[in-house]
Amino acid sequence: MPFQKSHTPWWIVKGVEPPYKKYAKEILAKKKQHYADGTIKPWNKGLTKETDERVKQAALAISMNKEHSKNISLGKKGISCVKLKGRKRPKEVIDKVLATKKIRFAEGKYIPARYWLGKRLTFIPYMYGKTHTEEARAKLREWRSHQVIPKKDTSIEIKLQDFLATENVSFEKHKPITGQPDIFISPNICIFADGCYWHGCNKCNLEKARHPDDSKITDKLQNSGYKVLRFWEHDIKNNFENVCSKILEEIPC
Ligand SMILES: [Zn+2]
Repeated sequence: MPFQKSHTPWWIVKGVEPPYKKYAKEILAKKKQHYADGTIKPWNKGLTKETDERVKQAALAISMNKEHSKNISLGKKGISCVKLKGRKRPKEVIDKVLATKKIRFAEGKYIPARYWLGKRLTFIPYMYGKTHTEEARAKLREWRSHQVIPKKDTSIEIKLQDFLATENVSFEKHKPITGQPDIFISPNICIFADGCYWHGCNKCNLEKARHPDDSKITDKLQNSGYKVLRFWEHDIKNNFENVCSKILEEIPC
């Protein structure tokens, strides 16, 4: 029978002591007996740090462990006690670390934070120097077209959806075609509700360049025979009647 995650061990079901604990107890008792008899002798009996190298190493390891756990417990309380605090590593060390990082980056085993923080990850370590097959790329494209980001509809999308529902217009949300239009009305109307921040609106003076993909997506869709309507967040919020009339103009009666 294959192992099941939900399988409960029989000793828990029966409410008895697990068998391995019993065996462990027996072995421990035997060991204690042997130590008492003198049949087993501790390896470090009679040796000291000064006379034996192994004892010295073991003592050093214990002291380092203690220091380490002390640092961890201090760190949990928010007290920084890292030895490097306020000091800099020597230049040779910094150079060595950088050289290692460069080699690992070239091998595709290390990704600096700037490559993935707040960005779409375009650099996959194990794919370094390789390419997906055309078949795999088609599969990935298909998979991505169904991914909805963000997962929840934004407030402006919901406002447009509500309007269309009251007008008895049937529509699709996040249709998996190029650019994944927020709202798609058959046969060929794609409506995008662009947030002022993420899509870089000039009117609201949010210091962010317009989303570079937006114009590309519009061009692609228009070349394939779609009608593209893009509305800004500020228009949907403050000038909704205008937006509604623009949509209604495009919808075939
Ligand atoms: Zn705006």
